[in-house]
Amino acid sequence: MIVVMKAGATREAIDAVVKRIEEMSYRSHIIEGVERTVIGAIGDERGKSRLQALDAMAGVENVVPILKPYKLASTQIHPDRSVISVDGASVGGERIGVIAGPCSVENRDQILQIAREIKSGGATMLRGGAFKPRTSPYSFQGLGEEGLQYLTEAREETGLPIVTEVMNPEDVDLVERYADVCQIGARNVQNFSLLKRVGRASKPVFLKRGMMTTLEEFLMSAEYILSEGNPRVILCERGIRTFETATRNTLDISAVPVLQAETHLPVFVDPSHACGNWRLVNTLARAAVAAGADGLMIEVHANPAEAMSDGGQSLKPKKFAQLMKDLVPFVAAAGRSL
Ligand code: PEP
Ligand code: MN
Repeated sequence: MIVVMKAGATREAIDAVVKRIEEMSYRSHIIEGVERTVIGAIGDERGKSRLQALDAMAGVENVVPILKPYKLASTQIHPDRSVISVDGASVGGERIGVIAGPCSVENRDQILQIAREIKSGGATMLRGGAFKPRTSPYSFQGLGEEGLQYLTEAREETGLPIVTEVMNPEDVDLVERYADVCQIGARNVQNFSLLKRVGRASKPVFLKRGMMTTLEEFLMSAEYILSEGNPRVILCERGIRTFETATRNTLDISAVPVLQAETHLPVFVDPSHACGNWRLVNTLARAAVAAGADGLMIEVHANPAEAMSDGGQSLKPKKFAQLMKDLVPFVAAAGRSL
């Protein structure tokens, strides 16, 4: 339920509503708008009719049900778009965020070199996996903490915040000590214990859509994180599985406007994993920006032929810099900046 307070409702009135919500064993979630405050009452759906009684309290304009299964993620509770702070920079605001870097952190020189290159190309954050979710147990699994240390060095040198994946709840303590943003990969989008754990993390979460996840399920995964108290969630469309085999996955471009209608959270697109082919990345990145995406995630590698993972979809640094230039008219048409 959402309790909409009257414009100018007093602090005491707001506090009294919050107290009453909590007495009924619901969690309260206050959103202070420019004109008025709304208070979400989040919890067990079954007893929600009891909340209707809040209607009679001082300062309350009305009490309306949140019809969607996702509550804190919905635009109903939070009509303005969320702008998320990452290490002092804004994500989801006017500026398009560009997260770039290799699929895996392979060694110190590799990540330092690529960090410099993507920075000069115009990226706003550095990515690189230290814990890699690989289909085969015989494939490179990532450098673990050593990889996180190299990422930290790259941040120190370039100032770029780092985005890196965490695959299980036991590693969250470690990863959040190094990372500026914790990534939850497509394969873990419904790993609910991991979602709950990052919901208690101190860092923003970059949540990738699963390859078989509907948009409603995707938003329910975001809801797991939000409901644990972490409001800083960035969503990422990265392609879904379809019957089409010409590309690794099928980029669901309609996810961008659908998600933006349903949620206030920033929506990024990862064309690299969506298509699996570096030749298509530039076109799909422009399409994503034209569709209104808040940002991009692009895999970049100095020597894709030798990459330990996802070389086939990785752009060389020069091609990445070209992509950033090619985005310019699309960014302007979308009313954004780079
Ligand atoms: C990645 O970002 O390297 C990755 C493994 O992506 P996804 O989880 O989308 O497959
Ligand atoms: Mn990858």
